[in-house]
Amino acid sequence: MACKICQQFVLTVYLCKPSKGSQEAFAIMSHSGTLYVVATPIGNLDDITLRAIETLQQVDLIAAEDTRHSKVLLQRLQINTPMVSHHDFSSEQAIKQIIDELQQGKSIALISDAGTPLISDPGYRLVSLAREQTIAVIPIPGPSAITAALSVAGLPTDRFAFEGFLPSKSAARLARLHELRFDTRSLIFYESTHRIVSSIDDMQTEFGPQRLLFVGRELTKKFETHFNGTVSDCLVWLQSDGNQQKGEFVIIVAGSEVASAQQQLQQDALHLVARLREHLPMKTAVALASELTGAKKNALYQLALDQERK
Ligand code: SAM
Repeated sequence: MACKICQQFVLTVYLCKPSKGSQEAFAIMSHSGTLYVVATPIGNLDDITLRAIETLQQVDLIAAEDTRHSKVLLQRLQINTPMVSHHDFSSEQAIKQIIDELQQGKSIALISDAGTPLISDPGYRLVSLAREQTIAVIPIPGPSAITAALSVAGLPTDRFAFEGFLPSKSAARLARLHELRFDTRSLIFYESTHRIVSSIDDMQTEFGPQRLLFVGRELTKKFETHFNGTVSDCLVWLQSDGNQQKGEFVIIVAGSEVASAQQQLQQDALHLVARLREHLPMKTAVALASELTGAKKNALYQLALDQERK
């Protein structure tokens, strides 16, 4: 069966199959339709890609997180492709129905309310089952709040971790942030209007007031705002203007400069020595800092000497 979009007669799907203890690539010919995972705008409807429009026009069916929501986008694009609802609470039966249609050769586009499907959005079970059934799954990439924020945050992008939404209860949220406090990668979180202040407050508890972060609010929309600075300044910014607490948020926290509690302790002790040195000789400053922080005296003395020689 010819694919409506790529015009190929059959699709070649490459799989990895264990063979005598090794992984060997082999090709199978699939006569199924294709599942297209299509990114849609995260606010500004002009951010739809040409390929997304073409795909949504040409597929047999669109599986949408919320059909009423997506109708607005499709109407604007003058696309009349039939839609079916697909969300996190879709039954196994409903997912199987989409798989059956794909296996009958239909092409289906998966979209979510905004951005890239599966990124804190529904679609995982469908994509995973489609792959199990060797149905071709093709990305139609485009907007996502993660990449939009990361591209403008001015924080390191060479290594980052997407943490999605933090838990809604403060105790669980603090526990999650505690696990992340020495992660040296940039950390990306999604947050809603209801919890933006409490989440930043909990970040201050776990990451400290001086950790740098970026907050992207309402990206690509009319009231887009960006914050760059320390966690404590961010809290002041949010609390001093209720309007800044409204909308959708991406938070990117700079990675930790120290990789362990031991290193953190040493760094805190070193800062203290530097302050004490304004009034005291080195030996006394180190002894006092060691007593107050619990850092090992000899190691601290050496580090403090090295720091002063720099
Ligand atoms: N699939 C989407 C994506 O690719 O980014 C994310 C969907 S998730 C349900 C919605 C969350 O993404 C929002 O609560 C917010 O944290 C973030 N988000 C989505 N659009 C945004 C925007 N325009 N500005 C800032 N954050 C946004």
